[in-house]
Amino acid sequence: MRSYGTEEIRNVVLLSHYGAGKTSLSEAALFISGAISRLGKVEDGATTSDYDPEEIKRKISINISLLPFQWKGIRISLIDAPGYTDFVGEVKAGMHVADGAIILLCAASGVEVGTELVWKYVEDQAIPRLIFINKMDRENANFRQTLEQGQSNFGRKCVPVQLPIGSYTDFQGMVNLVTMRAYIGEEEKDIPSSMESEANLFRDKLMEAVAEIDDELMVKYLEGEEITSEEVHQALRRGVKENKIVPILAGSALQNKGIIHLLDAINEYLPSPKEARKVMVTNMLTHQTEGVEPEGSSPLAALVFKTSADPYIGKLTCFRVYSGSIYSNSQVWNASKGQSERIGQLLVLRGKTQETVPQLIAGDIGAVAKLAVTGTGDTLCNKDHPLIIAPIEFPSPVFSLALHPKTKADFDKLGTILPRLVDEDPTLKVHKEPDTGETILSGMGDSHLEVATERMQRKFGVEVTAEIPKAPYKETITVLTKAEYKHKKQTGGHGQYGHVLLELEPLPRGSGFEFTARVVGGSVPKNYIPAVEKGVLEARQEGILARYPVVDVRVTLYDGSTHPVDSSEISFKIAGAQAVKKGLSQGQSVLLEPIMHLNAIVPEAFIGDIIADLNTKRAKVLGMTPQDGKQLIEAEVPWAEILRYAIDLKSITRGRGSYTAEFSHYEELPSHLAQRIIAERSAEKS
Ligand code: GDP
Repeated sequence: MRSYGTEEIRNVVLLSHYGAGKTSLSEAALFISGAISRLGKVEDGATTSDYDPEEIKRKISINISLLPFQWKGIRISLIDAPGYTDFVGEVKAGMHVADGAIILLCAASGVEVGTELVWKYVEDQAIPRLIFINKMDRENANFRQTLEQGQSNFGRKCVPVQLPIGSYTDFQGMVNLVTMRAYIGEEEKDIPSSMESEANLFRDKLMEAVAEIDDELMVKYLEGEEITSEEVHQALRRGVKENKIVPILAGSALQNKGIIHLLDAINEYLPSPKEARKVMVTNMLTHQTEGVEPEGSSPLAALVFKTSADPYIGKLTCFRVYSGSIYSNSQVWNASKGQSERIGQLLVLRGKTQETVPQLIAGDIGAVAKLAVTGTGDTLCNKDHPLIIAPIEFPSPVFSLALHPKTKADFDKLGTILPRLVDEDPTLKVHKEPDTGETILSGMGDSHLEVATERMQRKFGVEVTAEIPKAPYKETITVLTKAEYKHKKQTGGHGQYGHVLLELEPLPRGSGFEFTARVVGGSVPKNYIPAVEKGVLEARQEGILARYPVVDVRVTLYDGSTHPVDSSEISFKIAGAQAVKKGLSQGQSVLLEPIMHLNAIVPEAFIGDIIADLNTKRAKVLGMTPQDGKQLIEAEVPWAEILRYAIDLKSITRGRGSYTAEFSHYEELPSHLAQRIIAERSAEKS
């Protein structure tokens, strides 16, 4: 592919509820533009965009795909993003590097949950956009109804620039409301007489919307003067860029109808990187924030938005150049890491295929293999002009599973594989739970983690089972108690002697575990006190009820005795540990469970169901506040009750709710539940 000037580039992200036809649309666009010679179908697992085995198996997009092609002298790079909410990380990355968006609606299903979600994302980021009402050839396709739904959800700034001629088996083509011509197949025709009055009506609505954008046009419009097609184009271009208008088009990706008009609209209405919203960078020399200049000759600023780990070619880093130029076989500066990085052969990706290029300029999206220090979110620049672009904000994980390697070999490999997996997907997090020793993988939902573990097996040959994590329960005492232990052994020569008296005192929740010594008169010599402490701390690791760590207790060593010959550190350590065990069994020990602070944001209509569900989960609802047209419900819920909340909330709100949960504090576990856990733990041990 030839190189393009920055003003000849359009980076466009495709967004929708899953199944609206993004993958089919990109395939049709590639085919029409001549970039591919055979039209692949989602059903056959043969599209350019969904080439990953996990995508083919599930028939959904999981990763963003970059699909550049040439259209009438412009290079359009479509970014096909997943529609399924579990893969929101990829959607965010794709949106971040796009200058414009196409929101697809299915003409039969209309506005769906996923449409509302992506609309909110593009609104928040003020991304100029078009709407494409797809599947006009489908049974029950209804343009007017979908249009009304779109306008009632997203406002009157959504205005048709086309009308479909017919629908379902009678879907023939489009009426262009700017030129007032009909396009049926390859032919341009007069508007069919049956559609004239409808076309005039919508043309008026379009003129009204266009007049709102430009004062001069408003005067013309009010005075009943003719507004030319060229003036309409100009106004639309400006209105889209300023997010004052969202043109609506329609067609069928599957039948390849209306796609040409959509591509023309991308060229005409969506901004080039030069006209796009300004990206802010921090100059690391002056520490000032500045807007980047989208010119090939400006200082380099490129943002890494995706890293994929491939077992064969190694690490592949995808980036977008915002200003300046980057060259194959050169040296750049990674300002985020403060290290230089060698750039090998630059690549332009199209699905899974790669094309080598000598250079990439402002506006280009490209890739490079085998970078040493660079990760997702880093900025590449020149060392003498160090710049950092604000990294993409990814949502925090909401669903966790514990990974259990199947074999010893899997266990050994896991440690090196997990960082690569996380590197590839910033919405995945891994940590080791100190209390249970489990390796916990967290992500955006069950499908997300399922794909991640399958990927581990397919790409890296590591097999794991993923299970609900063990609860990090704790134990504590409820009454103050004193315990004495004398460790004494007389065996031939050297004996053993350690004798301590401890006080165990319950502390308020969240205090942790404390050890102090208050011995008078040297009954326990100073040099043995650390040994006693060691014994105490070791013993607290396993409580007497169910072997969970003991917290919120202060242990005070207040007396003891010593033997001139037989006393030793080990004897005092044993005495300390045994005295603690004794004290815990006298102190009316109880189990503590972690409580999470839950923030759920849900539409008003689901509040009753949400609260009812929370009540079955032993939650304490703290309050409700309106937020962004929805309700924020705050509650405290036991950790064990919300392990699958990502799934529950999705099903109650049909995907319209979201939540975050953070550890808050520990509370005593109700005794009937405690008894069950104690029984389970003892069965586990035996
Ligand atoms: P995505 O999830 O948004 O990428 O949607 P896909 O492109 O994978 O399409 C989902 C399903 O809808 C597939 O079965 C497609 O064949 C079908 N589909 C896509 N576009 C059209 C269309 O224009 N008309 C009809 N009838 N079906 C379509």
